[in-house]
Amino acid sequence: MSEPTDSLLEAGRIAAQVREDIKNKVKPGVKVIDLCDSAERMIGDLGGKPAFPCNIDIDRVAAHYVSPLGDTTVIEQGQLVKVDIGVHIDGYIADTAVTVCLNPTLKNMVEAVEAALEAAIKTIKTGVKTSDIGAVIEHTIKNRGFKPIRNLTGHKLSRYIVHAGKSIPNIRTMLGEKLLEGEVFAVEPFTVLSTSAGEVRDGASSNIYRFDKKRNFSNTITKEMLNFIQSEYRTLPFASRWVLRRFPGSDGINAFDELIKFKSIYSYPQLIEKTNGVVAQAEHTIIVTNEGCIVTTR
Ligand code: MN
Ligand code: MN
Repeated sequence: MSEPTDSLLEAGRIAAQVREDIKNKVKPGVKVIDLCDSAERMIGDLGGKPAFPCNIDIDRVAAHYVSPLGDTTVIEQGQLVKVDIGVHIDGYIADTAVTVCLNPTLKNMVEAVEAALEAAIKTIKTGVKTSDIGAVIEHTIKNRGFKPIRNLTGHKLSRYIVHAGKSIPNIRTMLGEKLLEGEVFAVEPFTVLSTSAGEVRDGASSNIYRFDKKRNFSNTITKEMLNFIQSEYRTLPFASRWVLRRFPGSDGINAFDELIKFKSIYSYPQLIEKTNGVVAQAEHTIIVTNEGCIVTTR
């Protein structure tokens, strides 16, 4: 196989291994920052790099929560905890997530989102339309008495780009685009209870950032920090925690704030369920083939 395919498969293997390891560590009393640090350390130990910081999204947070430096958030009994892992090898990305259910009454909802992901994967091959996959996801989730989140989608992955344009909806849509052979996608249904809105809104800062634009800063540390971010993460999302450990103390914090203020880095918001309903998610990365697809993150 070609080099990109090898890298995609390797990134997928690492992401799957880390996902399973962290999944087993999600228990009441565990600190979220320890889960994030442990996932990101393990990715490095296995020979990959994080394609984005490890997301630990609890209950109504559907996506984009990562620990800031000094985070004291602790996992509690009764929660629904999403673990979302991104790995890249040479820019070739794997993106995968699982929901850990610490609330027995929500077990069926987690099973529904996993079933929707499997049904979507079975549908995928060259030429299938994104809208058809959305329809399968919606049908599977509704059939089990739950509701998909309509404004979150799966997405195409390109080299060094996590959201590369084409998306896979989680509901039936009017228009769809055909999947092409060799394209790589993250497929990620989200479910809520039928009484929830089934939509997300922007919340507080996620502590996830990405490089936005180059600027000339007179402050030496700000300048160094921006160079570091650009060369280390390129177009990929990163955690404030990573940068502030590299540039410790108040000088680092001030430089980081300057980068935000002058929009050299973009801050992602957390994505919160509109009616504060609990959210379950499942996600795999796949490569489209003429016969079906290769799941890289099993
Ligand atoms: Mn993900
Ligand atoms: Mn994704």
